[in-house]
Amino acid sequence: MLVDMHVHCTELKNLESYSQGYLFVCVAEELETSRAVVELSRRFHFIKPCVGIHPWNIARSSIEEARILMEQAVSDNVKCVGEVGLDSKFLPETLTRQREVFKVFLDYAKEYDLVLNLHTAGTHREVFQMLKTWRVEKAYFHWYTGPEDLLKELVDNGYFIGVNPAWKIQEKHYKIISKTPLDSLLTESDAPYQYKGLSLKPELVNDSLDLLARLHNLDRRVVEEKIEENFKRVFKQ
Ligand SMILES: [Zn+2]
Repeated sequence: MLVDMHVHCTELKNLESYSQGYLFVCVAEELETSRAVVELSRRFHFIKPCVGIHPWNIARSSIEEARILMEQAVSDNVKCVGEVGLDSKFLPETLTRQREVFKVFLDYAKEYDLVLNLHTAGTHREVFQMLKTWRVEKAYFHWYTGPEDLLKELVDNGYFIGVNPAWKIQEKHYKIISKTPLDSLLTESDAPYQYKGLSLKPELVNDSLDLLARLHNLDRRVVEEKIEENFKRVFKQ
């Protein structure tokens, strides 16, 4: 099975075509897409929903909205929160509000033992410190491009690092992937995002698995199984 740990399913046109051979973790961007991914997970067995408010949408949302969203998620038995986090790189002007809303998600993640599907552009260390303060155990750093010295701390704390196909053109990300133990990695696409001319799509998870097989000198099938195991571990299946 190909694991896509971070995909914007409500924006994918041909979602059903992935129903064989893929495991999707569908992230949401606000209230409406949070409802939509939960609905999708009821229709399709290969989908796990994450609910949340993307840091880029914080200006249009509130702490109250985050609470309402999470209360609904708890009653729907949702196990993952995302895409959530902090962004000081692209949206520094709402950072104060971002922190207030993110704290709501941390509270719920701690109380209900949820997986955090994290966006941490420019804020890797701050988000890591918050996870430690809240004693959140299950977190996934989507498309990690943070400091290499922080990487070891993330791994030592049992957090997972996202392998995005952007490694094909983004040297910093390639370096991160090559330095992370296989036990701490999960594959993703972030589809349908466009990154510097690269169309990110779930099929590219194949290329990431080939890369990991080369880097670790393992059979490609072994790597695929390993990533699936990591997926089960983060969701404690
Ligand atoms: Zn994303």
